[in-house]
Amino acid sequence: MTTSTTPVFPAGSVLGYPRIGPRRELKKAIEAFWAGRSSADEVEAVAADLRRRTRNRLVELGLPKDSPAIPSAFSFYDHVLDATAVVGAVPARFADLVDAQGRLDLAGYSTVARGRGDDLPLEMTKWFDTNYHYLVPEIGPETAFRYASTRPVAEFTEALSEGVLTRPVIVGPVTYLALAKATDGAGEGFLPIDRLADILPVYVALLRDLAAAGATWVQLEEPALVSDSIDVPADRLLAAVTEAYRVLATELTAPERPAIFVAAPYGDLGAALPVLAATDVEAIGIDLVRGDVPTAAVPGLETKTLVAGVIDGHNIWRADLDAKLAILEQLENLGAAAVAVGTSTSLFHVPHDTADEPQLDPTLVSWLAFADQKVTEVVTLAEGLTEGREAIHEQLLAASDAVRTRATAPGVVRPEVRDRVAALDEDAFHRGEFAARKAAQAARLNLPPLPTTTIGSFPQTPEIRKARAAFGKGELTAEQYEDEMKAEIRRVVELQEKIGIDVLVHGEPERNDMVQYFAENLDGFAVTANGWVQSYGSRCTRPSILWGDVSRPAPITVAWSEYTQSLTQKPVKGMLTGPVTILAWSFVRDDQPLGATANQVALALRDEIADLEDAGIAIVQVDEPALRELLPLREADQAAYLDWSVRSFRLSTAGVREDTQIHTHLCYSEFGEIIDAIDGLDADVTSIEAARSKMEILGDIHAAGYPRAVGPGVYDIHSPRVPSETEITELLTAAVKAIDVDQLWVNPDCGLKTRRYEEVTPSLERIQAATLAVRATL
Ligand code: GLN
Ligand code: ZN
Repeated sequence: MTTSTTPVFPAGSVLGYPRIGPRRELKKAIEAFWAGRSSADEVEAVAADLRRRTRNRLVELGLPKDSPAIPSAFSFYDHVLDATAVVGAVPARFADLVDAQGRLDLAGYSTVARGRGDDLPLEMTKWFDTNYHYLVPEIGPETAFRYASTRPVAEFTEALSEGVLTRPVIVGPVTYLALAKATDGAGEGFLPIDRLADILPVYVALLRDLAAAGATWVQLEEPALVSDSIDVPADRLLAAVTEAYRVLATELTAPERPAIFVAAPYGDLGAALPVLAATDVEAIGIDLVRGDVPTAAVPGLETKTLVAGVIDGHNIWRADLDAKLAILEQLENLGAAAVAVGTSTSLFHVPHDTADEPQLDPTLVSWLAFADQKVTEVVTLAEGLTEGREAIHEQLLAASDAVRTRATAPGVVRPEVRDRVAALDEDAFHRGEFAARKAAQAARLNLPPLPTTTIGSFPQTPEIRKARAAFGKGELTAEQYEDEMKAEIRRVVELQEKIGIDVLVHGEPERNDMVQYFAENLDGFAVTANGWVQSYGSRCTRPSILWGDVSRPAPITVAWSEYTQSLTQKPVKGMLTGPVTILAWSFVRDDQPLGATANQVALALRDEIADLEDAGIAIVQVDEPALRELLPLREADQAAYLDWSVRSFRLSTAGVREDTQIHTHLCYSEFGEIIDAIDGLDADVTSIEAARSKMEILGDIHAAGYPRAVGPGVYDIHSPRVPSETEITELLTAAVKAIDVDQLWVNPDCGLKTRRYEEVTPSLERIQAATLAVRATL
């Protein structure tokens, strides 16, 4: 529908930008608000300031003020929750939190995200193949959609009043419903996408409002279209695209609505590209990092701008601009009305600025591009595309140079590491029969039925953080720091002994983060000082940078585990992070297959496990919470991924004795989806998240005939709520009914590091009490 009135899409643009702040300003502000230390107005002021600084920074980096190159994509907690607020789909249990117009204030919004008393928060789950988590909308036949939150309009207006014409970003209607789960009361066969016709008027109202406020373009995000792992049949999903964008594009005519840019980050649009191209939207954004470069003309594209996501929003390597420009030039032959330069995803998956990392080796820095550098890359490519290659000659040379130096730099390729991987035989990937292992372990460990344990970490108290900071600054010696950590370990062991837990952990006080800790102790990694990336809500992680060949210069965890075991008669579980998770939560080199990198990490861990065994540790847990996270979104790519990822886990664990018990922890609850892969891990015990989904998953595990033990979580650690003993007993009773008792372990959903002792101690006491009660009935 591009007519002479269609506004021009900017030549270069980014899909989104980090929103938590370069110094995690938003995190600090909102956590202070939750803790009652500041008012909603104070949080709003911090947020407004952050948005202003973001806009100014993007202008400074070369994005124009007067064409909507700058996205308006802020969120206090989660952009899917924001969409829930816009469409007024607050679950019934939180109905008292909305005002007469259906709006949530900041406190209400926070409550929906975090829960209160017996009202569970919205379920949280992984956002596509990233380490970001969104809040799952709950939609039923009865959900009354209404245009409730006008925040997108207010934030657009705020920017405009300061002279910046932004492009509001909101989750598109198809993805919103595709990611939603049906409410408990919804009948069999109901799918949230059934409500498409009812939700569209809300989007129409929003578009009208945005246009009235002066918005020329709006960005609707439709990543559901790049995934095969969505609970909507493919044909339904495509039909929904046609219907949604027919309505949104034609219900209002410009200038009653902004031009519509549908962005499809995280992968290949596949069959959805022609469907989207056949609608009357004005621009389509495709991911050209994960997705294929289309080579044939697509009918309908001739009226649209193709926003080419050539700059990787998901990793931190500096782009080979020459190669990217070649892709852009190739796209110009596709017959689109225009080609614009974009990012493959929002930049909120990468840190702000490499200039914020003065401690990093300058050579390494010269290979990197964080969000700000990526904006510059986009601006440069846009110039190259519009002005010609010559205009950016210097930048093309500099980028190619960086790629070249990286390929030959010391540490990037180490023959001794490569030779060891190459020399592995198939035996290195397999343990003996499970039945024999089970008997040997039972004899060695002598545990009661329904053994209790935890996932590893105990609360990271202010004292622990203080000690670590002081150690970092040189105010504590290594010895003093070690003493403090040992004192903490003694406290954690005492607490577990007092409660009566069967398999103890050391509590991980010495770890700043379960991946960074290993990255700091392995060769081939670098860690950042300020490279925070939002993980969920106010939580951030600081992914390490895996840039070279990996090896273990010395034992990492052995002394801590050995010390812990010296304090107790009960078995202590050694605690490691698995190869796949180390990769998933780091920024990983992109110059070799991930599987090759994973095997290098696996061998380092294998050596660590051998040392733990030698130190007398009988149980080792190798956490793989990210196993599913890297699962490719397209089914066709999944088998190859599961093969290398599962093999790397086995390579790390298969060197152990029969009577050494290997545990793994997988966080998420979509066990059924990849049960074959979980089976392939061959871990003796697998703990998973199950509290929020009420053990539903055990049915799948049982039905699949899964033979090894599982520890379904009975305490949702993502919320400050302390579960009641009755509630835990009910979960355990359900678990015992669903699966063989001798397959069951009892544990929280995940590590306890983000919780406080006030919550953790009573929760663990109740878990133990409930377990004893259920044991008594066996
Ligand atoms: N062992 C880790 C912990 O307890 C596991 C955390 C995770 O799965 N994310 O903190
Ligand atoms: Zn977990």
